[in-house]
Amino acid sequence: MLKLFSHDDRFLIQQLRSELEQAGIPHLIKNEYAGGAMGELPWQETQLEIWLVDEAWYDKAARIVSGLNHMSSTPDRWRCGVCEEENEGHFDLCWKCQASRVVNDN
Ligand SMILES: [Zn+2]
Repeated sequence: MLKLFSHDDRFLIQQLRSELEQAGIPHLIKNEYAGGAMGELPWQETQLEIWLVDEAWYDKAARIVSGLNHMSSTPDRWRCGVCEEENEGHFDLCWKCQASRVVNDN
């Protein structure tokens, strides 16, 4: 058993699970606080862990994880609609004028 990935974002975990399933990589989900098998606690507000059943799969699985990390850690930059300052994608408010992020297609 080898821990592959942990995150409290259920959607990211579910995305990774489906990628692992498509690749045919055997895996388990563990909850950090439960210490047991999945399904024993609600998923909300708990950090989930994905473990590889067989660490021989690690190289392939790590490549899938790095693809996910790339997508989640480099969100698109956005331009404030009020002051036109450019902001990093992980900010929801403009760092300069605190205006809310407004998505536009320009
Ligand atoms: Zn602004």
